[in-house]
Amino acid sequence: MPSPIRVIYTGGTLGMEPGPQGLAPGRDFEARLRRALDTLPPARRASLPDFTFEATPQPIDSSAATPSDWQTLGRRLGQAYDEAAGLVVLHGTDTLAWTASSLAYQLQGAAKPVVVSGAMQPLEAPGSDALGNVEGALRFAAQPALQEVAIAFAGKLLRGVRSRKWHTRDADAFVSPNYPLLGELVEGEPVLYPNRGLDELQRGAPRFELPDYQALGDCPVVRIVLWPGIPASLVAAWLEAPRVKGALLEVWGGGNVPEDPALLEVLAEASGRGQLLVAISQCPAGAIAIGSYAAGQGLAAAGVLSGDDMTPEAVITKLVHLLAQPLDETQRRERFRDALVGER
Ligand code: ASP
Repeated sequence: MPSPIRVIYTGGTLGMEPGPQGLAPGRDFEARLRRALDTLPPARRASLPDFTFEATPQPIDSSAATPSDWQTLGRRLGQAYDEAAGLVVLHGTDTLAWTASSLAYQLQGAAKPVVVSGAMQPLEAPGSDALGNVEGALRFAAQPALQEVAIAFAGKLLRGVRSRKWHTRDADAFVSPNYPLLGELVEGEPVLYPNRGLDELQRGAPRFELPDYQALGDCPVVRIVLWPGIPASLVAAWLEAPRVKGALLEVWGGGNVPEDPALLEVLAEASGRGQLLVAISQCPAGAIAIGSYAAGQGLAAAGVLSGDDMTPEAVITKLVHLLAQPLDETQRRERFRDALVGER
């Protein structure tokens, strides 16, 4: 008897019900979900894998999630890992890509499917995408060849640490701008595309890393998106805030910043203080190459690391993950440059 899939419900629109203040996490989601699954055509219902279910103690709207929630979930999945053939996390869509990215770093070497999903509509809403998404997540979680953290949404399977929420309303709400889909549901059947999963070095024996993110305090990493005319003094104010240990800089195009010596000085000083600074493009797709233009040379000189084609979610969760570990600065910089879980 194969061990069943473990479903962990954390909240989000899919489980919400209307209340006096608008949609809020509803009660007894397991019973509601099992009832909904029983409405599927009998052959489809029968071919779904068995699952055990648990809910987090306080299901939330994922807009309230913090690194501490990522940590709690990572640890819970680590505990459930041995008993389950695959894991499914049901989550609000707003910060789903952040949680999936963080889980990818925490559950490195996962040799089983870890599938994160949610929905744009509550389960009971007419025409809801919730049931289809849960069904897809269960089917992908039953594929032993899937050995990483992935997002199942709208019939697609995306690498979690490459994904972003892309649309505020459409059911097809997630994209993976710089990496192809890992798989798709084709006529309801899960298909994994060949040679797109993690390579051998990045999967295999679980080597989970479950550091204490809470110990970092409440603002270890800041996110600074350039705009034309951005004053160096504002960037300095962010970087000099107490407890800031790292920053994501979203720069122009292929890796450019304004030719402002004061700005570059602020960045160099922050690197000099041991802060980990990473640049990616604010273009929605593509990689940066620091230093191909004169306007980008200063970034490398200021000690800013290239985030290559990583998403903002993947960079910030990786910075949190590395900063929470007892590594020295050189080790952190090296590990940031390495692709740990196919994030770059
Ligand atoms: N605000 C909701 C959440 O992220 C949105 C959703 O689930 O679609 O929990």
